[in-house]
Amino acid sequence: MTHKVTLIPGDGIGPEVTEATKRVLEATGIAFRWDLAYAGADVQDEFGTPLPAYVFESIRKNKVALKGPVTTPVGSGFRSVNVALRKGLDLYACLRPCKTYPGAPTLYKDVDIVVVRENTEDLYSGIEFEEGTPEAARLIELLLETKGEVVRKDSGFSIKSISDSCSRRIVRFAFDYARAHQRKKVTAVHKANIMKFSDGLFLAVAREVAKEYPDIEFEDRLVDNMTMQLVKRAQQFDVIVAPNLYGDIISDLCAGLVGGLGLAPGANLGDDMAVFEPTHGSAPKYAGKNKVNPMAMMLSGVMVLNHLGETEAADRLEKAIAEVIAEGKNVTYDMKTNIPNAQLVGTSQVADAVIEKLEKSSNT
Ligand code: NAD
Repeated sequence: MTHKVTLIPGDGIGPEVTEATKRVLEATGIAFRWDLAYAGADVQDEFGTPLPAYVFESIRKNKVALKGPVTTPVGSGFRSVNVALRKGLDLYACLRPCKTYPGAPTLYKDVDIVVVRENTEDLYSGIEFEEGTPEAARLIELLLETKGEVVRKDSGFSIKSISDSCSRRIVRFAFDYARAHQRKKVTAVHKANIMKFSDGLFLAVAREVAKEYPDIEFEDRLVDNMTMQLVKRAQQFDVIVAPNLYGDIISDLCAGLVGGLGLAPGANLGDDMAVFEPTHGSAPKYAGKNKVNPMAMMLSGVMVLNHLGETEAADRLEKAIAEVIAEGKNVTYDMKTNIPNAQLVGTSQVADAVIEKLEKSSNT
């Protein structure tokens, strides 16, 4: 069977890691028909938007996409393509597995954490009031009138909204995932002692949902304590569920525990659509240099195969990547730290090495 998948190369380092991943996916022997769709800074001039409508149409049609990173200008310029895709397609669950592979440049062993991040609300809802605007002034008046709070007139605002319904579906997603993947514990992360009506709601819902899953252990942690505990003893965590912002930060922290962003894959999942992408961004300073690690994108490709039901090919590809990491001979600059005499290779040479492993495994 040929799988139709939307392929979004993205910008910055995106096209290079996407090409490397496309090659290893095809080398598994699984047949793909790639529906190429372009988004990001590079298409802004041509389409007048960094996210043309046909990208949405392609994903809605194919239901599965593999996406490279896309740059979001800081402070000004267009809004995040990534946030727009997640919101537009209601890809409410962001799944980011972080697992140590032997040979990876990390001090940690046996970490195997899955971060489940709420993807549609919280401080990422995009509701903002710019400092000095009439809207910001009205909000300041409203806060004085309704709460008796005096807020500085030169303030800007980003709204943090957390709903019962979105909290409920993400916590359920985390428990269902835990059950389906034989995981034992879910940890909810929050700051409910300070933000009682947003994080407090998330925590209350999480506690309620946890009662529906008596077979899975449940605990919660304040986000500050959580970051410290992850660094001290990451192995105690299994599935972590968090609102959008904490989930984003914690998943980068977890990527650091397992060897860096070059090894951290991810998926954005809705009820009937899925967009797979690495946790890392477009690293513009390395764009076009054949330098960065394509393994995070390749491991996102492993997730695509599993999602398509091609579990045998997924296992073979993951094993081939793990072998290249363990061997440490054909790895990129970011993998070198702990591996004596490792030679530095470029993005496409990593793909060559993974393909060689795949070919060897099919000949034995
Ligand atoms: P980044 O992840 O692009 O890069 C941070 C650093 O991590 C890089 O300088 C590099 O040293 C390292 N790194 C990242 N990916 C790597 C790889 N594959 N191999 C080796 N090293 C790697 O983060 P940033 O610099 O904060 O963001 C750059 C741009 O990417 C921003 O515009 C940001 O908005 C965007 N971004 C996009 C996504 C996405 O498309 N999903 C995610 C995060 C950031």
